[in-house]
Amino acid sequence: MEMLIRRGFIWQSFEIYGGMAGFIDYAPLGNNLRRKIENIWREFFVINERVAEIDTPLIGVEEVFVASGHATSFVDIAIECQKCGRVYRADHYIKDKLNIEINSSIDAIKEILEVYDLKCECDGNFSEPFSMNLMFSTNIGAGKGKKAFLRPETAQGIFIAFKRISNYFRDKLPFGVAQIGRAFRNEISPRQGVIRLREFNQAELEFFVHPREKKHSNFREVADDELTLVDKFEKVHRITLSKAVERGIIANEILAYFIGKTRRFLLKIGIKDEKMRFRQHKDDEKAHYAADCWDAEVLTSFGWIEVVGIADRTDYDLSRHSKFSREDLSIFISYSKPLVVKIKKAVPKMDVLGPFFKSKAKKIAELLEKIEFEGEKIEIELEGEKIKLSNEFFEVKEVEEEITGERVIPHVIEPSFGLDRISYAVLEHSFDKDIVKGEERRVLRLKRWLAPIEVAVLPLLSKEPFTTKAIDIASLLRKNGFYTDYDDSGSIGRRYRRYDEIGTPFCITVDHQTFEDDTVTIRDRDSTEQVRVKVLDLPEILKELMTSEIGIENFGKRFQ
Ligand code: AMP
Repeated sequence: MEMLIRRGFIWQSFEIYGGMAGFIDYAPLGNNLRRKIENIWREFFVINERVAEIDTPLIGVEEVFVASGHATSFVDIAIECQKCGRVYRADHYIKDKLNIEINSSIDAIKEILEVYDLKCECDGNFSEPFSMNLMFSTNIGAGKGKKAFLRPETAQGIFIAFKRISNYFRDKLPFGVAQIGRAFRNEISPRQGVIRLREFNQAELEFFVHPREKKHSNFREVADDELTLVDKFEKVHRITLSKAVERGIIANEILAYFIGKTRRFLLKIGIKDEKMRFRQHKDDEKAHYAADCWDAEVLTSFGWIEVVGIADRTDYDLSRHSKFSREDLSIFISYSKPLVVKIKKAVPKMDVLGPFFKSKAKKIAELLEKIEFEGEKIEIELEGEKIKLSNEFFEVKEVEEEITGERVIPHVIEPSFGLDRISYAVLEHSFDKDIVKGEERRVLRLKRWLAPIEVAVLPLLSKEPFTTKAIDIASLLRKNGFYTDYDDSGSIGRRYRRYDEIGTPFCITVDHQTFEDDTVTIRDRDSTEQVRVKVLDLPEILKELMTSEIGIENFGKRFQ
């Protein structure tokens, strides 16, 4: 953390006013890193899928969160010390002090406080536990205005636009919608620095599927990937995804597909496989909307932390929004072949209906023809009047009918990524120390494609003509799209260390030979090896290096 703050990855927000827990600034290097992670996420979950990305407001009107259940169910339980006034999130305090996992129910927490006589760190007694909704509330407009909330997840913006979205995809399942943006949760006294924030960044994908077809056409791509699963009974499996589905550990192929895809994404950005696992939620742990949920967890100095939640939200959200908005959010699915079914129909007997119902007889006959026959008697409604008809008024006939499809409310599988935790975990997993020329150095072994500063151009000596030449080369590289630094302060060894520490994969050095044959050296951060290449070839070489993990020595040979 000291390095991250000093070198400009993250800063404490509101620092000059004393700071506030749960908020961070993305400083220049951290901001660049997170943006790069977002773009790789897009490659994985938008560009290479039948997925479109949208961007909806951060503020949501009250109706949205009443329907979604957040207004009532998105709560944590707090306890307040009566002596020092500190407030804790009850389940976290109990886990810290007693190592007991507890679900968030007020009664269960009350009982634990009593049975274990749990006190505050100052030895004060706690008040009665109370529940606190985690949404920040606000008002839209003047005066009392309209009640609204800052969104606690980006997902709701997607669900409420579902009609438009479905239309955009020509009502053909499966399709997905992604959103990357801020989410807000008024966490009860967050104490874990960057891990538990009150304003954080989510990348969410809502993948809509037919309720009876929880499969993904690309499942084969990840089916043989082996990974660590911890099921809801806490049993650990090292298993391939296809076997996990076969044995019912993961409920369906589509959940398994997104678990596999998530793992590949995390590997691509440098999370270590041996420090990654997928843990299934226990039955009493699941969010109010989830039928099944697997968290990607990553081992850090804070222990195992959840960085991604992959949930089967079923039709919960669409059904709720359909009910509360009175909009039909179902999709018509055509069968590949129409189904032919035999149904019983009531054929009206006009010679009996006519004399009995007189002027109404024609309309009754029309209604009778429309309904499927179910029993001895039929009840129909005509202009608000209920009319019972016994079988003297109709004849029963069996007829064949073609059914071309059905209306369904799609189910949704949601991989939800916390970009702040992921960025932090990437930094921790990349942080390393080694010995170079008898000296210890700190090096951030970031994947090349994530480096916030991709290349640093360094004049060997900070005087002419070295400096002008180095500035020219830096400008050439910037024009070619590289995040480039120029640095001429301090010894060359110190400057290398500086760029090693922030994860810059390549340093270009302008030395005496540059002025003889227009070549420079490229130094590799990880091996500290150097090769000499032509200045003109630099953009092309760097482009190849930045998108691969090829050793620098290969380029030296090829281009010299
Ligand atoms: P959830 O909707 O709770 O499953 O959250 C989805 C993802 O958002 C989690 O996997 C976390 O990575 C991230 N997340 C949730 N709450 C926070 C928070 N308070 N601070 C930072 N990240 C969070």
